[in-house]
Amino acid sequence: MLHAFTNSPITSFNFENRTFYVKRDDLLDPRFSGNKARKLAYFLAGTHQEFNVVNTLISYGGNQSNLMYALSSLAKLNTWQFIYYTPKLSYIAKNSVTGNLEASLANGMKLIEVEDDFTLFSKNLLASFITNDIEGLNSKPLVQANQLLITQGGAQQEAEYGIKILAHEIEAWAIEKNIKELVIFVASGTGTTAYFLQKNLPPQFKVYTTNCVGSPEYLLKQFLDLQTDNSTTLLPHILENSKFRFATPYQELYQTISSINAASQIEFDLVYDPVGWHILLNNISKISAPILYLHCGGTLGNQTMLNRYRYKGLL
Ligand SMILES: *Cc1c(COP(=O)(O)O)cnc(C)c1O
Repeated sequence: MLHAFTNSPITSFNFENRTFYVKRDDLLDPRFSGNKARKLAYFLAGTHQEFNVVNTLISYGGNQSNLMYALSSLAKLNTWQFIYYTPKLSYIAKNSVTGNLEASLANGMKLIEVEDDFTLFSKNLLASFITNDIEGLNSKPLVQANQLLITQGGAQQEAEYGIKILAHEIEAWAIEKNIKELVIFVASGTGTTAYFLQKNLPPQFKVYTTNCVGSPEYLLKQFLDLQTDNSTTLLPHILENSKFRFATPYQELYQTISSINAASQIEFDLVYDPVGWHILLNNISKISAPILYLHCGGTLGNQTMLNRYRYKGLL
């Protein structure tokens, strides 16, 4: 079966005397949390013989991950079993299963809580898939017996396949609009989307991003880890976030995203996009080129974030 989750529309809106274009990857497919369809396109295309033997998909990460939900959809489409390892759930998470976790379990995901050190656990899991592979992580998909491993956040080379298609869509649109220079903004988690987007765009199309997870140094390291050749691939420009912690409610972020939602009449996600928009707007005077904001989807998790806002008394 072939799935072509491509050609998302581009819309625009005005805010504080600027025009913002929005690449609506949130509209690609609700089962894939928007841009995760790009990251997983390689595994979706149904043309790769190497996956014929696979009957089980394995991954690991947070219990509200957008990628986790996209993987549960991928497994369902391919009729694979899906096993997902996550750190031990908090009392609250366990007693109010919502958002991505609820939807993933409904797709048949088998959730396994890891009691021990999760970083060590995931390192060992990864190692068990690459022991016989002298070229290491970057050489090929991690298939062992009937199992396919997709790494945390999907930060691996196969993501380029779908993100390259996204880059070509953006370039074709800009040419049609006669836009010579463009800034594409995307909020980063693993940085995989930003990295492969810049790699597949001409240099006058600059990818700007901010670190939603970890420090700017962490994000830079993520980019360098994805670089297979010692090439001079242009890296995305990081607008520094030194204040907002991942998936944490902040009054000022809520204000920013509410204004953006109202002006655009688009619903953005509440984990990445509030930080993305806030940092972008803080730096807006330094950017003269037209701006295209990449909406990566993820709105299925909004209920969970709203609960966190309420719990903190910020709503
Ligand atoms: C996954 C995701 C991102 C970040 O993608 P990375 O490639 O991990 O940097 C941004 N926004 C949303 C809504 C996402 O789900």
